[in-house]
Amino acid sequence: MTAPASTVEELTAQRDRARQDHADLVARGLRLDLTRGKPSPRQLDLAEDLLDAQAPAVSADGTDLRNYGGLQGLPELRAIFGDSLQVPVEQLLAAGNSSLELMHDALVFAQLGVVPGGERRWVDEPEIAFLCPVPGYDRHFALCERFGIRMIPVPMTAGGPDMDVVERLVAEDPRVKGIWCVPKYSNPDGTVYSDETVRRLAAMPTAARDFRIFWDNAYAVHHLGDEPAEIADLLGLCAEHGNPDRAFVFGSTSKITFAGGGVAFFGASPANVEWWLSCTAKRSIGPDKINQLRHVRFLRDAEGLREHMRRHAALLRPKFDAVDKILTSELGGTGLASWTSPAGGYFISLQVPEGCARAVVAKAKEAGINLTPAGATHPYGDDPADRVIRIAPTYPELPEVEQAIAALATCVRLVGTEKILA
Ligand code: PLP
Repeated sequence: MTAPASTVEELTAQRDRARQDHADLVARGLRLDLTRGKPSPRQLDLAEDLLDAQAPAVSADGTDLRNYGGLQGLPELRAIFGDSLQVPVEQLLAAGNSSLELMHDALVFAQLGVVPGGERRWVDEPEIAFLCPVPGYDRHFALCERFGIRMIPVPMTAGGPDMDVVERLVAEDPRVKGIWCVPKYSNPDGTVYSDETVRRLAAMPTAARDFRIFWDNAYAVHHLGDEPAEIADLLGLCAEHGNPDRAFVFGSTSKITFAGGGVAFFGASPANVEWWLSCTAKRSIGPDKINQLRHVRFLRDAEGLREHMRRHAALLRPKFDAVDKILTSELGGTGLASWTSPAGGYFISLQVPEGCARAVVAKAKEAGINLTPAGATHPYGDDPADRVIRIAPTYPELPEVEQAIAALATCVRLVGTEKILA
């Protein structure tokens, strides 16, 4: 690694100071958790009115929602989310409480049945692989591991996955059946896919005829600032480029209403939706429409949704600002770290010098700060450069975020200076 322009004496002094600061931290016996991107209790309180279920449980068209049926989910709820997920309402389904469950099901359905455009079930292929933009979401990678899908890391750029790499891999290898994408405020680096990236994903030739983009738009409306990021319309572009069935769109209200009691969405082409319903019809006689109705009554319409998200932003922005401010004051100009400043979503990605991420996480643990394990942002838990640490500042209250990030910065100073001097 490149040493910052400091003399050895200066570095030694910095390291000694970091050692002392770390020892002081350990002595304080902190217990702080920055591991998972959960909404804080105050964020959950914003949707407390959701709990006041009101009779009658009847939909706009007079359907008695207490009964079985309605596999597609409540039309009035799908209408609220159609625009933000960029899926026509008739192609958008409202399901249970977790989009991860739907991603799991999509893989199971593709393994055990033939997806539109496919020739055989994925389970009958000798091997299949997915492209995994890195850093990425550990639970996507866990699903691939669960189903024996080989993962091929693809580097992220400022505008999404490196499309030169993606285009080459999908064009040359029919075993590559899919790609994971978190197109807006990605987990963990907050990247927003550029229009060009989305267009190339929609248009690229793929060797596999049944190639699918798993478009996990988990943070579609989760803006931190006043200028919401807009991404290009993947479903529309796929249709325009002659690949109408290429995209599976996922989303949920987990980080809008209740992470444990929200509603998840699946959107795709008419052929994919028909295929999906034929699979889910065997699995369920219909989703929890009462919860969907609660969401309609609580959110009211698309403007109600935007208004609600502004309340989340008001709680979250100070935490994200604090992380940026503390990292800048503690690590800015040291050459020991760089980090993202996302305009939305739930995470910040911290890059430390090569070979240091695991050690930083371990030092933080000694000081009582729990971080997502280093490597979790990469397939098989292996960040080959050992550089990326995911920061999840949403759950703890602001003073705890401040304490935890200051402590984390101390660990970066300690591990970084020790590495340079080693
Ligand atoms: N997708 C991404 C990118 C996430 O970061 C998360 C949660 O952190 C999820 C999906 C989970 O979604 P759900 O709660 O709808 O299962």
